[in-house]
Amino acid sequence: MSRSAHPAGPRHADVLPEGHYTAPPADLNALDPKVWSRTVTRTPEGAVSVGGIDVTRLAEEFGTPAYFIDEDDFRARAQAWRTAFGEGADVFYAGKAFLSRAIVRWLHEEGLNLDVCSGGELSTALSAGMPAERIAFHGNNKSAAEIEKAVSVGVGHIVLDSFQEIVRVAHIAEQLGKRQRVLIRVTVGVEAHTHEFIATAHEDQKFGIALADGQAAEAVRRALKLDGLELVGIHSHIGSQIFDMAGFEVAARRVVSLLAEIRDEHGVELPEIDLGGGLGIAYTSDDDPREPHEIAKALGEIVTRECEAAGLRTPRISVEPGRAIVGPTAFTLYEVGTIKPLDGLRTYVSVDGGMSDNIRTALYDAEYSVSLVSRTSDADPMLVRVVGKHCESGDIVVRDAFLPSDLAPGDLIAVPATGAYCRSMASNYNHALRPPVVAVRDGEARVIVRRETEEDLLRLDVG
Ligand SMILES: *Cc1c(COP(=O)(O)O)cnc(C)c1O
Repeated sequence: MSRSAHPAGPRHADVLPEGHYTAPPADLNALDPKVWSRTVTRTPEGAVSVGGIDVTRLAEEFGTPAYFIDEDDFRARAQAWRTAFGEGADVFYAGKAFLSRAIVRWLHEEGLNLDVCSGGELSTALSAGMPAERIAFHGNNKSAAEIEKAVSVGVGHIVLDSFQEIVRVAHIAEQLGKRQRVLIRVTVGVEAHTHEFIATAHEDQKFGIALADGQAAEAVRRALKLDGLELVGIHSHIGSQIFDMAGFEVAARRVVSLLAEIRDEHGVELPEIDLGGGLGIAYTSDDDPREPHEIAKALGEIVTRECEAAGLRTPRISVEPGRAIVGPTAFTLYEVGTIKPLDGLRTYVSVDGGMSDNIRTALYDAEYSVSLVSRTSDADPMLVRVVGKHCESGDIVVRDAFLPSDLAPGDLIAVPATGAYCRSMASNYNHALRPPVVAVRDGEARVIVRRETEEDLLRLDVG
């Protein structure tokens, strides 16, 4: 089996646990709380429920495929991050993981800030009442129109990502008669993914400005000279789906040493550092993510220690979790359509969605788990590959998993931990209609993003 692709890129392919799927779980009906959201449970009749509602009822009312988000779980996770970091720090939810107006309102109510990286995300945030000063604007190639909008509505931070952007943002701010608060995004020469990290001098990637060859120090020099900019700090984001804090430690050390250099050269102590997101979640029972309070403690200690050593006041810390907040809070519900046993290999189970609602498996060789959720079963396990209905053999939702061997067309199966980077990366491939997102809480279900219709598709096609 090919392990050449990995969420972290090919260099990290070897860190995945090999072949762990060869043993079926002890109980196929069990729901591992690591991968399912907090209110998910089995009813006495055997179906799975979320927020007190049975999935068979949800499927009848909302159809399949559909994403169901556990609102209590989302709020609890957002709150856990907020509480863990406390008043001396800021938590920015990374909107690209999944953004809708309901999400923005929940974040606002729970006291979180928001990262956006496009005009579309910014409009969604503003239209749902997120105060502009609590929004940070990211991206490696923001358009002039996006910068203008961000500056004129007064976003709290724009994260500068290139030398061109330093002058572009300064110029636009000056034209608007404003002074924009900015961070400079640096690449610290750390790549952290899942269970390992690599510290290098250079990073071969499109984001940020390199620390290593003095580029970042030069960016700071230029930004400090421009009237349109108020440089308040340094930003670093080192990867995704990270479990190991060692990469953050190296990143924090390198960012703090830049702060010390800036103090020595310019006599200013920048008041903020943003250490980015990328904290991992459990997609399968093999993953062991850290709790927000452990992460907050570890990051706080690293930054405090490094600043003390450099004789700097400890700056205000920001973090930007996306996946770690929304990822575990949702599952995708599918109906089984066809079942093809391939002798001696595996059984292909086709569902009514696929790579249009979850591209991560095809794109990153991401791992997921899957369960039969419309009933329980005592049948023996069978090794399956859950595939979609698209015209592409790489249209795989779950590469290897076990489902009961009496699985039949019409059964409902669900893939947990699909809250992040699934609906937000969904496509209309094969003119698929993107599924709805339904929020479930206390026995009530409410559509927060409706299902696309053929009319929606045809409306864009102006002939
Ligand atoms: C993607 C991204 C995040 C969020 O990453 P997660 O893996 O979802 O936590 C945070 N900050 C920046 C700058 C990003 O690009």
